[in-house]
Amino acid sequence: MESRDGFSAEELFTKKTGRAYNDFIILPGYIDFLPEEVNLETNLTRNISIKNPLVSSPMDTVTEAGMAIGLALLGGIGIIHYNNTIKQQMDEVRKVKRYENGFITDPIVLAPGNRITDIDRIKDEYGFSGIPITENGKLNSKVVGIVSNRDIDFETDRSKMLSEVMTRDILTAKKGISLVEANNILKKSKKGKLPIVDEKGCLVALMSRSDLQKNREYPLASKDTRKQLLVGAAISTKKDSIERLDALVEAGVNIIVIDSAQGNSIFQTDMIQYIKKNYPELEVIGGNVVTEEQCDVLIRAGVDALRIGMGPGSICTTQMTMSVGRAQATAVYKTAGYAKKFNIPVIADGGISTIGHISKALSLGASTVMMGSMFAGTAEAPGEYFYEKGVRLKKYRGMASQEAMEAGGKKRYFADESNIMVVQGVSGAVVDKGSLFDYVPYLIQGLKHSFQDIGVKSVRLLHEKLYGNDLRFELRSSSAQMEGGVHDMYSYKEPKYI
Ligand code: GDP
Ligand code: GDP
Ligand code: 5GP
Repeated sequence: MESRDGFSAEELFTKKTGRAYNDFIILPGYIDFLPEEVNLETNLTRNISIKNPLVSSPMDTVTEAGMAIGLALLGGIGIIHYNNTIKQQMDEVRKVKRYENGFITDPIVLAPGNRITDIDRIKDEYGFSGIPITENGKLNSKVVGIVSNRDIDFETDRSKMLSEVMTRDILTAKKGISLVEANNILKKSKKGKLPIVDEKGCLVALMSRSDLQKNREYPLASKDTRKQLLVGAAISTKKDSIERLDALVEAGVNIIVIDSAQGNSIFQTDMIQYIKKNYPELEVIGGNVVTEEQCDVLIRAGVDALRIGMGPGSICTTQMTMSVGRAQATAVYKTAGYAKKFNIPVIADGGISTIGHISKALSLGASTVMMGSMFAGTAEAPGEYFYEKGVRLKKYRGMASQEAMEAGGKKRYFADESNIMVVQGVSGAVVDKGSLFDYVPYLIQGLKHSFQDIGVKSVRLLHEKLYGNDLRFELRSSSAQMEGGVHDMYSYKEPKYI
């Protein structure tokens, strides 16, 4: 018998009251599978799917290259913030795109006359030191050797020329070789790098053994067809945005997020149309929106996904100051249902503070969740740890907080034309969460257990159940909410993550 106990989402969200994640609970389903069998693959945008539904916020205390690399390796994706110069944002995107490769088509190359100090400089800037040496020090010139760490690590005279230390007898592969064949040569050769050369022996690309290890270690990584990690970057609709957009595309960005607190504007629709006309390959995420009407405008302008949320963020004061916005669970349910008709996925952005909230957002139709505070305290977030009363903390601030806006982030809130700054966020701190590489697997495992309790094996099935009215919910009274938390304890130790 299909249970009719509880209420469908449609019934839950028809009343006049806006609901938050904590206002309701999902009723359990039937379990006939293990958590390991749950498939969390989902659509981030119309054309990009990722293996885990996690996205990090474009905020200057959340997402730079470290976060974006970590999340992409773990099957999610990071959106690089734009509270920086165009060059800085471009560099962060480049670091992510260079991190892992199939064929490296633009490898850094040196000439025999360069010195070991040049490799030291490259190592400092990019982190690698396996450098092919060509006659003129450029790509498409004859390969004459290769220098790797092993050739130079014990060399005390760093001014030596590379011609004195390079390995001359090198294994190469011919242009046109498939990635699989080239990988096989690398595996068998025990070498760290494989230069790919044309019929004249000129360098056309490079392959690195460490990429095979990365691929094996992170099988769920979010990657493009060149096996480079996927990355998004945010821009505003302000003056320098076109220049920023061009630079980000040059750096290899896959997804552009148009960052605006109220996305239903002519500035945003103009920007969407501009991007779609000039860069049709680029996926565009529009927002933020919370109503069906707002979605409709951005969908018609051509977005590939929508970012949902106005005011639920942990650092956000918008609803208090502006009295405009929407309770997040209602916003997610309404917008996801509308956008689904056009095959546009929605991202539930803000207000997520537990694994259960992720599960609830997905249960209401979101395809992914965007989180700031959840990721802000991890080792991969920008900034240093500090201590307050013995607790290890990291800074976390709203992009419309006074502090962030003064640092250059007024772009999101139509604020910089005027001299008076109305803040819509706070700055503060969150506790240390350790490394993303421990934390994300925990979140994912928790999420899989939640799916098991709901009785669905995938995000697709969850949404099918939602729209078939088979996913059952119930509102929670305030005492039910208290009952659902820890209570009646004299003392207890908070779990590390919830
Ligand atoms: P999968 O690796 O089995 O998921 O399949 P893919 O279609 O992603 O990969 C096809 C081939 O590319 C396989 O031989 C992979 O080992 C290889 N591959 C995947 N990712 C990378 C990478 O980052 N670098 C390199 N060099 N090879 C990769
Ligand atoms: P190395 O042995 O010091 O070169 O460093 P690794 O092999 O550990 O790291 C190389 C990583 O950097 C691989 O993931 C490459 O795909 C990546 N990478 C990106 N661009 C380049 C490049 O121009 N040259 C080299 N050597 N690696 C690059
Ligand atoms: P959190 O995950 O911490 O609850 O919320 C993060 C989200 O809050 C971000 O993705 C972004 O949408 C939103 N946000 C970031 N900074 C601000 C701010 O200063 N004010 C407001 N209103 N929202 C912000």
